[in-house]
Amino acid sequence: MRVCAFCNKKFFILESSKRRFCSKKCMNKNFNLQNLEVRICPICNKEYAIPKNFRNMTCGKVCGAEKRKMTRNLGTEIKSKLGRKIMPKKECKT
Ligand SMILES: [Zn+2]
Ligand SMILES: [Zn+2]
Repeated sequence: MRVCAFCNKKFFILESSKRRFCSKKCMNKNFNLQNLEVRICPICNKEYAIPKNFRNMTCGKVCGAEKRKMTRNLGTEIKSKLGRKIMPKKECKT
């Protein structure tokens, strides 16, 4: 029995193995957590965390598909949209 270094769940593993995680999922999550950055999805303007070395421009598969669709249909329009820096919404304080 060994304890997963990410989710602290106990799991069975050969003594000789050097694995520290119960599953590939935990391994990936642990790796990703070490170098996450926050980006803003150009499709839905939502903030999302993503490993710095990932090239994803969107928050998820749905927006990724949407972006591909838009890129195909209106190539130039989406490019200019992505090029513009998205500013966070300002709250009105009166
Ligand atoms: Zn785990
Ligand atoms: Zn999105």
